[in-house]
Amino acid sequence: MITLRGGMLVIPGGIRRADLTIEDGHIAIIGAGSSGGKVLDCSGCLIGPGFVDVHVHFREPGQTWKEDIETGSRAAAAGGFTGVVPMANTDPATDRGHLVESMVRRGREVGLVELRPAGALTVGRRGDEVGPIEELWEAGVRIFSDDGDSVAGSDVLEEAMIRIGKLGGVVAQHAEEATMTAGGHMHEGVVSAELGIRGLPAEAEERVVARDLVLAARTGVRYHVQHVSTSGTVSLVRAARSKGVLVTAEAAPHHFSLDHRRLRDRNPIMKMYPPLRTPEDVAAVAGAVRDGTIEAIATDHAPHTSMEKDVTLEDAPRGIIGLETSASIAWSILEDDPVAFFQRMAVAPARLAGFIDQGRWLEAGGPANVVVFDPDHVWTPERFESRSQNSPWLGTPLRGRPVATIFNGRLTSEVGER
Ligand SMILES: [Zn+2]
Repeated sequence: MITLRGGMLVIPGGIRRADLTIEDGHIAIIGAGSSGGKVLDCSGCLIGPGFVDVHVHFREPGQTWKEDIETGSRAAAAGGFTGVVPMANTDPATDRGHLVESMVRRGREVGLVELRPAGALTVGRRGDEVGPIEELWEAGVRIFSDDGDSVAGSDVLEEAMIRIGKLGGVVAQHAEEATMTAGGHMHEGVVSAELGIRGLPAEAEERVVARDLVLAARTGVRYHVQHVSTSGTVSLVRAARSKGVLVTAEAAPHHFSLDHRRLRDRNPIMKMYPPLRTPEDVAAVAGAVRDGTIEAIATDHAPHTSMEKDVTLEDAPRGIIGLETSASIAWSILEDDPVAFFQRMAVAPARLAGFIDQGRWLEAGGPANVVVFDPDHVWTPERFESRSQNSPWLGTPLRGRPVATIFNGRLTSEVGER
């Protein structure tokens, strides 16, 4: 039994002071004066559903020197997460049902977070042939994506949309027109020109999203834009939704907090696809997260070892880790709206990914997947639970931190000294 004492429960109607008792994997009592078992002092903290990330890379199978399901799960728990969707760009690609099942099994053995893997849209993520969608669905897949690459062929994508639409699944796209981004290392703009580095234009993302929205409108599928990074993409999503297209979107913390000027010193840590964009893009993405045009915050947690990242910007692999800093960065743009904070971090992503026991507003009798978030805790990350440490926030003071995570009624992470 765990008692959360003295915290503030966040529910759709707002915030109320409450104590929670957790027993046998469920929330037993919500009320003042509950006690028993292990007691956590939650004074000054917000309590809500455990966070859910619809976009992580756990590198298992295939690249476990960067991360594996165990270290990725530990990073997730430390970041306040109780549910994650690992992307299909593993080796081999997650394009068959048995591969999904073995990841889920390994996740259960580790027991720190619920895994609901994404399935590849195409065979081997090669883009030329739609994969065994129905088999993946049977194995529990709800989000289909070739993340890491765009599905370039309209015919292939349309067939996938029709088949996934029939099942009620989600087609998620890493939007990048590869013919425009080949050889690029950062956003194409004033900074890339200054440095003489080949860039990735904003249009490379927007062209793919615009095309996909036409196909989504025609097929009626649920279509999801992964890691939105430009103001143009925000406008496209907004316009399509107002016309009734079933479109959702996610944004990564780095895309609403850091811009391309951070690459002036050619720091390879700042390299990712999509790249850090202009301050105007950053403001547009942050605004869209705040107003709900972008309903899910997703990290694109992409571990690479320091050996791999300790090279020139041009040679560095793309991507940063994000699970352990996501809530702090999200809080920096949502601190005036705790209900929206939990909606973007837990409720909306859980619905999108088809989780049943995740992202549910806390109530007596409900599943005990819970995070305790201290909005005033100032901390400086020095070492992450992730096997890789490629984070732009290493050594940077942050405000707001998950101080306890409870998954299936069990404490999976706790910050001792506060
Ligand atoms: Zn991606």
